[in-house]
Amino acid sequence: MQKIVNLLKVPDEGVMQKKEKKMHLGGCECKSIEYKFTGEPLTCYACHCTDCQTSSGSAFGLSMIVNDKDITVVKGKIAINTIDVNGTKVQKHHCSQCGTPFWFSADEYPGIIALKPGTFEDTSWFKPVAHLWVRSAQPWVTLDKSTPQYEKQPEISELIELWASRENA
Ligand SMILES: [Zn+2]
Ligand SMILES: [Zn+2]
Repeated sequence: MQKIVNLLKVPDEGVMQKKEKKMHLGGCECKSIEYKFTGEPLTCYACHCTDCQTSSGSAFGLSMIVNDKDITVVKGKIAINTIDVNGTKVQKHHCSQCGTPFWFSADEYPGIIALKPGTFEDTSWFKPVAHLWVRSAQPWVTLDKSTPQYEKQPEISELIELWASRENA
């Protein structure tokens, strides 16, 4: 009986794999939460502002803007804290066990989230289209000259255009 069940499953899995060809899995450091992303990013950038340095505890933050409908939590329960970032209320979605941040959302930007793409299992498929707030970048960080750099904050629409033009190149 088990064999028959397995045989019956094969075609379904084939179809699933085709449909979910661009699925990306992600998770936290302690492995208690896993999520999947099944869409296309709107953009991805590196931000060297001091807020990103603080929240990442590192030299810069990486953000990937995605539609929240393309994210599904497949294991565990994500905790949400509301924080105040320079007067804007931002929801930080994270693992309450290990503290890994997954993404940020804000009422100002309904339907989209800023995902932290370092949480993907495979991080080889994306590259930031721009470096933001380079005026506060650590002096020892060497930036790729072919990637646009902004002293401060550009319009998000500009970053979305950069991603789209690179995808179509
Ligand atoms: Zn965790
Ligand atoms: Zn930043």
